[in-house]
Amino acid sequence: MLEKFLSLGKKRAWIYPLAVKGHFQTIRKWAFVGLHAVLFVVPWISVKGNPLVRVDFAGRQTFLAGTVLTASETVLLLIILLFAAFALFFFTALFGRIWCGYACPQTVFLESWIRPLEQFIEGGRVTRQRRDQKGLSFDLAWRKLVKWTAFTAVAFVLAMSMMSYFAGARELWTGMAGSVEYTLVAILGGVWLLDFVWFREQFCNYLCPYARFQSALTDDDSLLIMYEDERGEPRGGKEAKHDGRCIDCDKCVAVCPQGIDIRNGFQLECIACARCVDACAGVMGKLGHETLVSYSSVTQSKGGKIKWTRPRTLVYAALLAMLIVAAGTRLFVRIPFEATVNRAPGTLFTVDDDGFVRNTYLLKIINNDVAPGGHRFTVTVDAIEGAEVIVQDVGLGPSESSTTPLIIRLPIAGEDRRTLPIVVHVTSEAGELVLETTFKTGASIGE
Ligand code: SF4
Ligand code: SF4
Repeated sequence: MLEKFLSLGKKRAWIYPLAVKGHFQTIRKWAFVGLHAVLFVVPWISVKGNPLVRVDFAGRQTFLAGTVLTASETVLLLIILLFAAFALFFFTALFGRIWCGYACPQTVFLESWIRPLEQFIEGGRVTRQRRDQKGLSFDLAWRKLVKWTAFTAVAFVLAMSMMSYFAGARELWTGMAGSVEYTLVAILGGVWLLDFVWFREQFCNYLCPYARFQSALTDDDSLLIMYEDERGEPRGGKEAKHDGRCIDCDKCVAVCPQGIDIRNGFQLECIACARCVDACAGVMGKLGHETLVSYSSVTQSKGGKIKWTRPRTLVYAALLAMLIVAAGTRLFVRIPFEATVNRAPGTLFTVDDDGFVRNTYLLKIINNDVAPGGHRFTVTVDAIEGAEVIVQDVGLGPSESSTTPLIIRLPIAGEDRRTLPIVVHVTSEAGELVLETTFKTGASIGE
């Protein structure tokens, strides 16, 4: 039942990809090492006492390379998200599914951890196939048990590392994080474990949204993994190995983690991992011929040359450049503190014994600057004729906040309007914020 549900009605055909080495697998391996370094190391790095990268949902703030972005910096966060989306579009237009083959967490974890562990514990492709076909035995049972235990440990470590970007690496790994964070680790780890044990390539084939729309992002000049029909066909036969045609060894199919035969043409399931390229390069190389499977494009397959600069790529490049300028400008004009002024709870105004009307406000200042030393904030109010302003300067250290009373008094006899506009200036060496509020004169009392 579960099998049918997860396979969307079809019977699951297990894939036993053959291990493969080659030029592109070496590149992928180094890409995976780099991505793991980012995943494991970045959450432990601090800049001026704050995380290098962390999204703190509870505190409604994001730490980014020594800068604290609060909810008021939504525009900057939006620019960063848009940049990531357009960068994906741009690279997909140029290099096809490079994300899937080289950087998608599903691919990175399966290739770096799961397949090597599976091979180490259960043996190579043929051994694994034979064991599984034989059915339940002691040998199969203990190997599966050890394998799933290893997968559980991997899923746990990966989930902890991913959650470190949200809950903090030190807090999580020292047991200081909250129950919500550990519950999320358990859920995330469980999802990864399900993927490692069962779901695997089905995620790309049935669930991944990027796989669904990536064909709309590519065109005839985008790089794809392609089989050269003209050189390769007709495949098989005694003479194939001499004249460079496909010898029908099926190695490109055996290594494919998606279980597809690239010789049947481009298929949506292909994640552009280039395993079939390396497999065929190995086979054909030994025979003194060039690989029949390679990175190519529809244009190239028709004898043309890839156009790297075309309307689609130029538009994406222009948008990326605009977003970089927008983010830079935003960061340049950004004032690293926030301030709000609100009327103190209680009455709108108070009439003091000396005949002055008093309005009391609460001024909240948040210093988002993480630089040591902090800032001193001066508060001034645009003068109303005869008004008395009582407020103190505020000193705040890095990432500190404080709420301070602001009192404005005005002689009752001097004003007949009920409400006066008030402008408050909060100034530090980092910049100035201008806040607007109102003063209630109590003029209606006497009416
Ligand atoms: S066809 Fe080749 S590139 Fe595509 S998923 Fe299979 S092995 Fe990877
Ligand atoms: S690996 Fe190359 S030679 Fe072997 S079946 Fe695939 S395309 Fe043909």
